[in-house]
Formats: sequence, structure tokens, C-alpha cells
Amino acid sequence: MTRVLVTGATGFLASHAIAELLARGYEVRGTVRSRARALKEAALARIPGAERLELVEADLLKPASFDKPAQGCEAVLHMASPYALDVKDPQRDLVDPAVKGTEAVLAAAAKAGVKRVVLTSSMAAITDEPPADHALTEADWNEKSSLARNPYYFAKTLAERAAWRFMEAKPGFDLVVINPFLVIGPSFTKSLNESNKLLADMTKGVYPGVLSLTWGFVDVRDVARAHALALETPTAQGRYLCAGDRLTMRETVAALREALPQAKLPSLPLDNFAGTALVKLASRLQPPGVGAYLRSHIGRKPSYDNAKIRRDLGLEFRPARAAIAEAAADMVKWGHIRA
Ligand code: NDP
Repeated sequence: MTRVLVTGATGFLASHAIAELLARGYEVRGTVRSRARALKEAALARIPGAERLELVEADLLKPASFDKPAQGCEAVLHMASPYALDVKDPQRDLVDPAVKGTEAVLAAAAKAGVKRVVLTSSMAAITDEPPADHALTEADWNEKSSLARNPYYFAKTLAERAAWRFMEAKPGFDLVVINPFLVIGPSFTKSLNESNKLLADMTKGVYPGVLSLTWGFVDVRDVARAHALALETPTAQGRYLCAGDRLTMRETVAALREALPQAKLPSLPLDNFAGTALVKLASRLQPPGVGAYLRSHIGRKPSYDNAKIRRDLGLEFRPARAAIAEAAADMVKWGHIRA
């Protein structure tokens, strides 16, 4: 394999995937919505090996725009997709680009005769309300989200389902799917993506206290490696749940305090029965996307089994506390938060 197409090259995850591919000697063609904007920011040009990176324009909402970029590529990492909890119009802003974009990229891959597509799905396609009765695996599917309830989760689920449906017609390539949980870490670009923002918000008084929330963290460089391994491992197949350590918000705040001793972090203990009841009530006053997220996640502790990705791809996860410390230092460097 020599040339790989990576969609959404300026994204937080995609820029790390590009760095990983360049480090492994590939030629990379990255799609961006605006080449002029990407070149102006110049972040991608600073990645070691960037002389083997070419940027071309494509838009998830312009189906034919991926056809030409895919020509001459042996593999595709489809990583572009809007990531936001709250949008004006969930169908237009989340579902359409996620689903139509995925179908467009897969159709372009089929026409170009690529050998493998790796799709960045999400834990959001596995569950939108972590169950209490079992550890989540690749066999779980989110069946609860809708346009009104966790629309980002809905969009990611529909997009992954559309991808597997596309494969039923045997398009001539194989599909491997990566389902990361909460991805954090240093960023190649100045923009603050939604998952690092969760940490930034904890230092900015957005949270009234320590809530009963729990996440599975994964370092962005591990997610990048997972994509490269999914590309290179002939026996890779199906979905891969991609998450390392599980931390409560209390543990996350403690890790942030260690990294940023001066930061104003939440301290009021709301991670108890009364606090959870209060947050559920107060969630009605939040923007709809945030409110729905709180109601489906507060008081729940997701458990998950990451054995498949460790066994099949040989991926080991960095400790979450170290990733939080690096993400915090990086957000200080970019001016998103104060030290
Ligand atoms: P970013 O917001 O950093 O990147 C999103 C990318 O998608 C950007 O490059 C953006 O391009 C591109 N994009 C959005 N809409 C369009 C469109 N209409 N046409 C073309 N490109 C578009 O997000 P992340 O890097 O965090 O997420 C990347 C992927 O990983 C997404 O699929 C997301 O769902 C998934 N994911 C992320 C997780 C996380 O914790 N961060 C967890 C699990 C999955 P532009 O620069 O032009 O805006």
C-alpha cells in the first residue's frame, strides 16, 4: 500500500492519523472543505513527513466530490463527520453529512478500486445510555437515539449502519470500523474539538460541581495507531471498540488538578443521589443536545470490554491520566485555557 485517502484532514483525530501514516512511510491525500483555509493555518504542513501529504477539496454534502480524490488510492480512512452535541437542525447539520458523506466516500472507494476502508465510527454507535447489566462490546448497537434524543449519537449510528449496508453489495473492498470513546490529547491545530473541550470546560466554571459522569478515555495517538493498524492488519475485521481507562468526573478533575494546580476546577460534590436528581431536573434548562446527553448519562457508569482491539490489532492504551495532563498542557499552549 502506498497512497491513503484521509477524509477531514484538518480534524483533531484525522491530523493525528495522518501523522501516524506519514511516520509509517505512506503517501497521504487528505480531503478538506477549504484548501485555502487549511493552507493558511499551515498546521498540517508542520507534521513530520508532510512533503508526502497532498490536500484536496471535498465536501460530505457534495457526493461526487470524493470520486476524484479516491482515484489512485489503495485505502481510505473516512474520518470526516461533524462532531457537535448541539446544532440548529440535527437532520441537516448532523445526519445528512454523516450518512450521505459515508455513502459518498464508500461509493468513491468502490469506483477507485481501493482495497480497504477504515471508518471512524464511535462509541455513540454502540450505546447512547450505558447499560448497568453488562460490559459493552462490539456486539452492542445504539438503538435509542433519535433526532430529538442525542442526535449526534443518532447520526453516528445511522452512518455506521449505512456503511455496513453498503458492504452487502460486495463493493470489492473490505471495511473495518473503529469505535472510539472519548478521545483526548494534544492537537496539531488551534481549533478546540468537542472532546478536549469537555476538559477545557471543567476549568472554566461550566460545571456547577462534580457530577456523576464517567467516560472511557483514549489518547488521540492511540486512536491514530488503531486506524493505521486496522489498515495494515490483513485479518482485521468488523468493529473495534477503542477505549482505555475509565475515569469518573471526580477522577478526571483530580487529574486536571495535578496538571493545572492553579485552575478553578469544580468541587461541589454532586456525584451522589441528590446531585444526580438535581442535574436531571436542571438538564431541562440546558440546550436540547446537552440536556439529552445529561439525562442519558448521569449516574451511569459505562463498562466496556476492549479485548478485541488489543488481541486483533495488538493495540495497547496509554494511561488516561497522562493523556489528560498532555491535553491540558496543550490547551494552555493554544490559549484555550489558563495554566
Ligand atoms: P473535529 O471536529 O476535529 O473534525 C471533524 C472533521 O470533519 C473536520 O475535519 C471537518 O472539516 C470535517 N467535516 C465536518 N463536516 C464536513 C463536511 N460537510 N464535509 C467535509 N468535511 C466535514 O472532530 P474529531 O476529530 O474529534 O472527530 C473526527 C471523527 O471522529 C468524527 O467522525 C467523529 O464522529 C469521530 N469520533 C470522535 C470522537 C472524539 O472524542 N473526538 C470519539 C468518537 C468518534 P472542516 O475542517 O472543514 O470543518
